[in-house]
Amino acid sequence: MPWRPPSGPPDPYRVWISEVMLQQTRLETVIPYYRRFLARFPTLAALASAREEEVLAAFSGLGYYARGRNLLRAARSALAAHGGLPASVPALLELPGFGPYTAGAVASIAFGIPEVAVDGNAARVLSRLFGVPGDSGSPRKRRELSALARTLLCRDRPGDVNQSLMELGATLCLPRAPRCERCPVARDCAAFRHGRTGSIPPPRRRARRRPLWLALARLERGGRLLLWRRPEPGLFGGLWQLPGVELECEEGARARLREALRAFLGASCRVGDEVATLVRALTHRDLVLRVYRCELPEVGRLEGRPDLRFAAPDELGELGLATAMRRAIEASGGVPKVPGRARAGPTAAGRRRRGKGGEGP
Ligand code: SF4
Repeated sequence: MPWRPPSGPPDPYRVWISEVMLQQTRLETVIPYYRRFLARFPTLAALASAREEEVLAAFSGLGYYARGRNLLRAARSALAAHGGLPASVPALLELPGFGPYTAGAVASIAFGIPEVAVDGNAARVLSRLFGVPGDSGSPRKRRELSALARTLLCRDRPGDVNQSLMELGATLCLPRAPRCERCPVARDCAAFRHGRTGSIPPPRRRARRRPLWLALARLERGGRLLLWRRPEPGLFGGLWQLPGVELECEEGARARLREALRAFLGASCRVGDEVATLVRALTHRDLVLRVYRCELPEVGRLEGRPDLRFAAPDELGELGLATAMRRAIEASGGVPKVPGRARAGPTAAGRRRRGKGGEGP
């Protein structure tokens, strides 16, 4: 792992960034993002002095953008209050975005503080090892598992114990088919001994996924595309996107978009043809993006509206855009036509991605 030094103590800043990026995200996805992030913000001080937009741009495509905003706030607070990340669990818990898991992971791995860090993988291992029934997500069971994890903590290598539990869960103690025959703790595992690995923890029932529609306007002017910085909090909060409106049902999408644009831009807008449809899987819902080509004859200047900008194609890479929004721009016609040059049509990737998506936001 690029955040684990071949020798010597780990760098708390690197441990923290990796732990935050790994939340809800697969290891192989995280590694290239982590490398780029560290190249751009190599130290806590470099991160603390960054603009939010730069940090969100570095997170662009990784999803769960609240993580990026919290990283920036926590870096500024830690630098102002402690001159760096504090080597204390209570002080870490005061920083934005730090819950018991992140504080425990940074404290134990980076500072060698004997504190537990129970993520979903470690919770599954602990449940099976000690034969604790019930859903690992309940607060009561989480407290019980943390207490059990504490009994395993080795005071001189707490970070190694925490990481071992997490990696055992990620590699062998899998949710559906644990590889007990290869497990180094099988002899001590209550669920294995009693043939209960299929019921501890109980299989999760999948909630029915409801769709959420997003009607978006593709407005071009002089080779630039109108983007809107969505207010926080909420879906894609703080990120740039095509202006649009969220809908709980599909009916009347075009009219609702026209109304929203009038209220939002203070001018009447012609909503034309639908030029792209994409479906992206969010954690609990399927997001259906419908992009309409729009014209806004009276749009004037955007002074006094820092949440709106006409962005040139080469600016798009520098802005914090969710992956879903990049795909919507690609699929609806790619980058805008630059006067005097050949038109850039939908990219091959954009065409392939029309229809069912399947990744996170
Ligand atoms: Fe998990 Fe099986 Fe190992 Fe028990 S023996 S900890 S169930 S992999």
